[in-house]
Amino acid sequence: MDTELTEKIRQLLLERETKLLKELGEVAGKDEDGYKTNFPDYGSEEDENSAEVATFTTNLSVESELEKALRDVRAALKRLDGGTYGKCKYCGEQIDERRLLARPSSSACISCKQTMKSRV
Ligand SMILES: [Zn+2]
Repeated sequence: MDTELTEKIRQLLLERETKLLKELGEVAGKDEDGYKTNFPDYGSEEDENSAEVATFTTNLSVESELEKALRDVRAALKRLDGGTYGKCKYCGEQIDERRLLARPSSSACISCKQTMKSRV
């Protein structure tokens, strides 16, 4: 892969990382072992309490989605630094550049992805 493309992808990943961190900050607080979903405080009435639980449940799933996406982005950045970026983790072939630009955290080529899908 040429440097220009690598740099472009690095930019995309860093932008994505910033966006994910911002979104995570809205639903979760940070603690020693990662992120912790905020428990909202609307009040102590019964309906307020159930609204708190509903929001908390939503935030929990939002948070785990965001954390997973963040892990993918950081893993991709690591692969960029380590020089293994852009290679399919299953077959070792170069992943299509258009695919990488559309989804910079991809770690598998389209044909391996399709093979996996058809096995399910
Ligand atoms: Zn592959």
